[in-house]
Amino acid sequence: MRIHMLYGKSESQENLKIPKKQAHRPAVDLTRCTRCGGCLEVAPDIFQFNEAAGYLEICELDYYDESLVDEAIKNCPEDCLYWEIDEGTNQKI
Ligand code: SF4
Repeated sequence: MRIHMLYGKSESQENLKIPKKQAHRPAVDLTRCTRCGGCLEVAPDIFQFNEAAGYLEICELDYYDESLVDEAIKNCPEDCLYWEIDEGTNQKI
């Protein structure tokens, strides 16, 4: 058995791309959500209904596919989906 490395990172580890946790996330205004299910059709891995609580939830993920979230935002009939904005930097958080 060969040992390639005892300390430090191997070349394959150096090239490994581990996505950082995304700095922004989608959110929903539950006061306006009618539970139509449109966002679940667009992005079922991002949005889900909490049947016990009776409202829409955003799944806890490290990364949100921006094109899918943007598509859900664009198609929400109640205009209640949005990206959370950092008020200090005016950027998505
Ligand atoms: S598309 Fe909008 S109104 Fe419909 S369930 Fe999703 S957040 Fe609620």
